[in-house]
Amino acid sequence: MTLAIAIARARSEGRHLLTEVEAKDALAAADLPVVTTRLASTADEAAAIARDVGYPVVCKITSPDIVHKSDVGGVRVALADEAAVRRAFDEILAAAQAAVPDARIHGVAVQRMAPAGVELIVGVTTDPQFGPVIMFGTGGVLVELFRDVAFRVVPLAPRDAREMVHEIRGVKLLQGFRGQPACDVAAVERLLCQVSDFVEANPQVRELDLNPVFAYPEGVTAVDARIVLSEED
Ligand code: ADP
Ligand code: MG
Repeated sequence: MTLAIAIARARSEGRHLLTEVEAKDALAAADLPVVTTRLASTADEAAAIARDVGYPVVCKITSPDIVHKSDVGGVRVALADEAAVRRAFDEILAAAQAAVPDARIHGVAVQRMAPAGVELIVGVTTDPQFGPVIMFGTGGVLVELFRDVAFRVVPLAPRDAREMVHEIRGVKLLQGFRGQPACDVAAVERLLCQVSDFVEANPQVRELDLNPVFAYPEGVTAVDARIVLSEED
């Protein structure tokens, strides 16, 4: 599904928030590195997708009315077998319905559990004066302790992306801290440029969040994605 289709669907339903599945589909169509994520309407479908992508998997509530999925008990990670997936499917729906009784539920998203990497966040907000602004920083629990972030106005040149990465203190984590292997910094910089290109090409995107992104010795991957559309096209 391209962004245009996701936008048309969201507009026709009078909503501004794309679900994680819609956002990731649109980003994947633009070649951004996101974990392939498919929507299941039944526990049988969830089990079939899990078998397809391979265990362990992660299951998440998919609703345009739920922004923070973990907050409502809507995320289950490290599901190791079919029984765990079926149980998670039922529990996630029950938890979401209890927390947000009026929520429109699309289903449960099933995706492969990505291996642990250095956690990063990439975000875009739209400033009334400067237009889209990209935020980049370290993610995970540390982000709550230290505000380790860099900002740049779109469009980003490769040199801007390099500067952003080297501006944050967490660059040390990417360069191989305490015997850990170094991460693929070039892939991180490429991702920042891709995000810049994506929002430049799609002015209907008012906010974009990739939180978290995992960086590895080879490549990066976003395991969560959120897109908020502007009020008007
Ligand atoms: P939320 O809407 O609460 O931000 P996320 O999709 O970010 O939900 O999931 C919550 C946490 O679960 C993430 O911060 C990450 O640590 C973990 N997680 C989510 N998806 C995956 C995945 N595909 N692989 C590995 N970990 C994941
Ligand atoms: Mg998240």
